[in-house]
Amino acid sequence: MLKIVLTLGIRPDLIRASRIIKLLEQHPDVDLKFVWSGQHYADNLKDVFIRDLGLPEPDIELEAGGATDAETVSAVISKLHPVLEELAPDVAVFLGDTNTVMGCIAAAQLNIPIVHIEGCMRSYDWRMPEEKYRTVIDHLSDVVYTYFPEYFDQGVAEGLNPRNIVIIENLIVDVLDDFYYAKRDEFEEFASPEFFADRQLEPGDFYLMTWHRRENVEEDLPVTAILELLSHSPRMVYFPASYRTQKRLAAMNVEIPEQVRMVDPIGYREFLALLVNSAGVVTDSGTVVEESAVLGIPSLQMRRSTERPQVYDCRSSVKFDPGSQQDYAAPEELFGKFEALAATEWKHELGDGFASQRLVEDLVARLQGGTIRGHEAADHHLDIARSYIGDGL
Ligand code: UDP
Repeated sequence: MLKIVLTLGIRPDLIRASRIIKLLEQHPDVDLKFVWSGQHYADNLKDVFIRDLGLPEPDIELEAGGATDAETVSAVISKLHPVLEELAPDVAVFLGDTNTVMGCIAAAQLNIPIVHIEGCMRSYDWRMPEEKYRTVIDHLSDVVYTYFPEYFDQGVAEGLNPRNIVIIENLIVDVLDDFYYAKRDEFEEFASPEFFADRQLEPGDFYLMTWHRRENVEEDLPVTAILELLSHSPRMVYFPASYRTQKRLAAMNVEIPEQVRMVDPIGYREFLALLVNSAGVVTDSGTVVEESAVLGIPSLQMRRSTERPQVYDCRSSVKFDPGSQQDYAAPEELFGKFEALAATEWKHELGDGFASQRLVEDLVARLQGGTIRGHEAADHHLDIARSYIGDGL
């Protein structure tokens, strides 16, 4: 049996990996161990997603919390190390760009092959810890599964071996196929008139908002800019707020605009039911802009830069940089552009719904064929070195 340890730690990891987990679980040649780092641990950030998405409970819970990123990362590494040592898997798999992926250091120390899902994305915004984490794990990985040719090129430009980067397309399309398109009737039933009445919302006449990114929460300027923007919203804003954001808003003692209804984070079924019935999403989330592009809902993206430009390419999203005084000046114009998107149609090019399958097939083939150790294929690195130093190497 091929022994695979998959380590995840936050809400969107469960969403993005949902079909991969099911495919690996069902695979006759695979023994999957699902490890949860504990970065997210509340029911409404973890368990509700396991239930909503029909996922198995994690086999191992690391409970690697911490008051700072440094504490969390060191706890993930030190708690994952003995688990990997004992299980001695054929490969350690990580997804995304969070404190949890830094657990790859433990796999690297044990010389266990590393796989990074959602690799080679770059925002080129070095303020973001996520950008630093992605870069580190991509370069430690033996195999990187990436979404698009432009990401492949980014990896190759950084010196990664092209043979170790595999393009699969975006996993979110698979997830929405399984969880939304295959269950539309259930969603229609779930999003009943009472559902909206309970939340004092009119279907089609509100924005759904998320706001959690460090660079938008931890500085005063973006917080003030976002609240100023929201105070000009022509519609009600329903805001399931991350705990980090709630804490910061309380600490800053700022006034929340009257259009905004702030609630605790909600489950995936509820979130998607609100999303598809909203007039648009206002968000700094990477995943939410992709989901809205696929589901035909406009997004107003509160980010200076993104590692996922495809939503601008297909024109499903408008940009607001909360860290810049410049954008701060014209909220009405911005909402005008955002509202205008609803009258347009776009065709997203995020994927065909077979990304998870491509990944699992390639991973199993590499494990069975003995080619999982991408770092041992040093020819590419020698080629690069020769191109600089010459043949005397
Ligand atoms: N989401 C959710 N409930 C919420 C907020 C978000 O189910 O209250 C989902 C959303 O649909 C998306 C994912 O969580 O799939 C996004 O998570 P987040 O914004 O935390 O992470 P990011 O995508 O920025 O990594």
